[in-house]
Amino acid sequence: MSFAENLAEIEDRILKACQKAERETRPELVAVSKRQPDERIEAALAAGVRIFGENRVQEAQERWATRREKYPDLKLRLIGPLQSNKSEDAVALFDTIDVLDRPKLARTLADAIQKLGKSPEILVQVNTGEEPQKAGVLPGELEAFLTETCPDFGISPVGLMAIPPAEEPPGPHFALLAKLAARYDLKQLSMGMSGDFETAILYGATHVRVGSALFGERDY
Ligand SMILES: *Cc1c(COP(=O)(O)O)cnc(C)c1O
Repeated sequence: MSFAENLAEIEDRILKACQKAERETRPELVAVSKRQPDERIEAALAAGVRIFGENRVQEAQERWATRREKYPDLKLRLIGPLQSNKSEDAVALFDTIDVLDRPKLARTLADAIQKLGKSPEILVQVNTGEEPQKAGVLPGELEAFLTETCPDFGISPVGLMAIPPAEEPPGPHFALLAKLAARYDLKQLSMGMSGDFETAILYGATHVRVGSALFGERDY
């Protein structure tokens, strides 16, 4: 199938999930372009896609730095783990950083924001499954992170992001993330990928991050 056909199918599935959830506002579709070949990126741009997710700063710079000039309405989101020494590059390139997950990163992002005079939107990643190998603030530590750590550094997150454990049903994780976002009055809920975006929409996702279902398999 062509990119445009994949896109039409995903948009249709998003619409149906919104109808099922009796939602009036549709979530934004974040096209996850990591490790995709150039021709698919160009096809996505030609089809009108403007919101892209990337999981590595350097790869994103290579892919987007020059394309940004041609497409001033692009919105780039960083959805993969960020090393604190890449904070400045990340703040320079991305419109939204979905992955703030620790105090040290709050500090280096705050420094970069001040130095560059540019403030991307920031979401806090939550490790809803409390998986040792996974990034994210633990649910039990979120309150202190949002009410002490972030304000200490002058950072005001606009939402929460999570990746549920691969081997569990995602619904309870999405429900937990939605509950936490409501508790702290955070507007953005970045949740749902190719395999579970419809479930995420039922639980209130405002941004679904879809890669392989849209572009095809990635190049590993
Ligand atoms: C790669 C990735 C996605 C997209 O995954 P697909 O299963 O290909 O849709 C979404 N979110 C994050 C954080 C990712 O790293």
